[in-house]
Amino acid sequence: MIYSVIVDISASEVDRIFDYEGQGYTVGSRVLVNFANRQTEGYIVEEKLTTDCPPEKLKSILRPLDDYPVISQELLQLGAFMRKEYHLKWVDVLRLFIPAEMRGNRVKELVKKQAVLTTENLDEILSSLKPNATKQRDLVTFLHANGATLCEKLNNQFGNSALKALVEKGFVEVHQITVKRTPYKGLAQADQPKHDLVPAQQNAIDTILGNRQGKFLLHGVTGSGKTEVYLTIIEKLVAEGKSCIMLVPEISLTPNMLRQLRNRFGDNVALLHSGLSVGERFDEWLRLKNGEAQIAIGARSAVFAPLDNIGAIIIDEEHDGSYISDFNPRYNTIEVATERAKQNGALLVLGSATPSLASFYQAKRGNLQLISMPERINKHPLPTVEIVDMAMERRMGNKDIFSNTLKDRLTETLQKGNQAMLFLNRRGYSSFMMCTKCGYVAKCTDCDVSLTVHREDNMLKCHYCGKRYYILDTCPQCKQKSFRMGKIGTQQIVEQLNKLFPDVKVLRMDADTTQSKESHGKILEAFGKGEAQILVGTQMIAKGHDFPKVTLVGVLDGDQSLYHDDYLACERTFQLITQVAGRSGRDKEKGTVVLQTYTPTHYCLQFSAKQDYLGFYKHEINLREASSFPPFSEIVRILYQGEKEKDCIDQLTAQYAHLCNLKEQHPTAFFYMDKMRSPLKRAEKKFRFQILIKLDKLQLDDILPQIYQICDQKTKNSVHIFVERNPQNLS
Ligand code: ADP
Ligand code: ZN
Repeated sequence: MIYSVIVDISASEVDRIFDYEGQGYTVGSRVLVNFANRQTEGYIVEEKLTTDCPPEKLKSILRPLDDYPVISQELLQLGAFMRKEYHLKWVDVLRLFIPAEMRGNRVKELVKKQAVLTTENLDEILSSLKPNATKQRDLVTFLHANGATLCEKLNNQFGNSALKALVEKGFVEVHQITVKRTPYKGLAQADQPKHDLVPAQQNAIDTILGNRQGKFLLHGVTGSGKTEVYLTIIEKLVAEGKSCIMLVPEISLTPNMLRQLRNRFGDNVALLHSGLSVGERFDEWLRLKNGEAQIAIGARSAVFAPLDNIGAIIIDEEHDGSYISDFNPRYNTIEVATERAKQNGALLVLGSATPSLASFYQAKRGNLQLISMPERINKHPLPTVEIVDMAMERRMGNKDIFSNTLKDRLTETLQKGNQAMLFLNRRGYSSFMMCTKCGYVAKCTDCDVSLTVHREDNMLKCHYCGKRYYILDTCPQCKQKSFRMGKIGTQQIVEQLNKLFPDVKVLRMDADTTQSKESHGKILEAFGKGEAQILVGTQMIAKGHDFPKVTLVGVLDGDQSLYHDDYLACERTFQLITQVAGRSGRDKEKGTVVLQTYTPTHYCLQFSAKQDYLGFYKHEINLREASSFPPFSEIVRILYQGEKEKDCIDQLTAQYAHLCNLKEQHPTAFFYMDKMRSPLKRAEKKFRFQILIKLDKLQLDDILPQIYQICDQKTKNSVHIFVERNPQNLS
């Protein structure tokens, strides 16, 4: 038999299939082959009877690497789709489907030794042991009471020699067992009762389950009870023997959703995300692969969960930017999930309080079935939003980051024993450090980024590459010692709150306080238990969390993301503010939101203050149409990165010329095309240039492959070329 193999070499620029000979292999298996005089791992993607490879050159597969095919036929089919759609290399796609450390055999099942008594008759054993062999006597008594126990535990408790002696005497046997490594083992169980469904939930569930291959957009305001809809759908499908995938945006959300899933489904749930330890990730993957767990939950990569017979793929907070992978391999999780649902004849459910414009537009056009849940559970009112004009505040003499309104509301909230969340999407102490004499701003030596001041360890940090520098003492340019600080970050907010409310406990959640694996969960749990009254955080605190005692949310800088030079800026800001606002007043007491801004009349802020998604959608979609931005066009960015500036420019210039030819041949397909330096001019020592193209969607299938082809014609090896479709981030 002939097998087509993708060789697992990343450096290779070639995306080629090589034929090998062998017997009895299954497509989707990992195998060892000889390639370029080296033993290399590879994946079988096809089997066939003939090959173009001349017989004298045809080599044999050396051996299989696992005793089961690691990639299913169905995932291979999904891989073929992604490869074509996103112009990816086979090897990069295939690597998404297995735990990274399986390659090179860097992870295995954890095997441990376990001891059991050879007879249940304790008295018989005890009477044969010497009375002074206390350790041995204690050990057998323990085993009799507790049953099979790990040897390491027994050795700890009774010393190594006791167990050894008992094994020699034949009273105890030792077996090997595999031990599963379970992530978030200690996650506290919440005693959440199963609610009686409200009519809106029942209606959503009936509609969704009424069309088992349907594609749905569940638009439910914050606190409308979408989670219960997801759980009920999963419950129903699992009972029918189907498996399910549930995606959540980022690590911070996982513990909460995981807890709810485990509460209901116990060990039938497996978690897949990059924050787990190597062993945990492998074991969870294997449990799904073996059918020991039918429900996969995780961030975007869980869309590749090794499940068969999928009944539903659910994507919560579907508007979230983290569903678009913006590094190689680049892909759009919603598109991939749509394809995978189609392959499985499964349901696709996208849920959000603020659907992406792209998804809502698809719903309007009938490509997704729209289900609305316009009210909060038990008709709890949505919070009142007070917009505070910070320009006015400054004119009145208040130079603080907190407006007087926010201070008043904070005081009231704390007096009532309630909790508050303050949102500022800027971590660190302040955004830059500038010399007041000469205007020098400290920048990263590797990136075109000013350095953020961090007070805790008194360092300057690059938020792009993470590089650290000593804080400035004298200006390196003019040798003066007087500095001005940039915009306030979360660290400084906490410092100011401690001054304003000395007796109040404040927690902070941002990338700096959540570096360890389970710290997200710990901070949220502490806040949930009322160990602190105020939680300050970046966008990590914006989504999903459900804290009944939070009655005040403060958005400290509502303009922050509004004026990015990016067509997504308004959509993002609307989503973010609506989401944070949605954290307020989720229980009986009505919530308040204080939204601080310098542009109080901006339509985006006005609509988010009213939590008026439809109003915002209509306004924004008209703007997009008038300016032919997505979803009315497709943006393609070709990014050139390299340490040699001239090579980047040469490579870009050469390809730009080809693209201009293409544009001349298809003038109506190109709405726009230009070349430029990227807004982030340099990152991690690499210069960055780009070509931006806006294409007619209707001609995409014809033009895109030709653009890809031009980008493949690389003449400068030092330059990395990335083609991105509708990138989330244009920096
Ligand atoms: P969403 O995801 O739509 O923002 P959640 O699913 O977090 O909303 O639900 C909001 C709150 O309402 C949660 O505390 C949840 O336990 C509660 N809840 C959900 N469904 C019901 C119900 N049918 N009856 C009472 N409470 C409910
Ligand atoms: Zn840097």
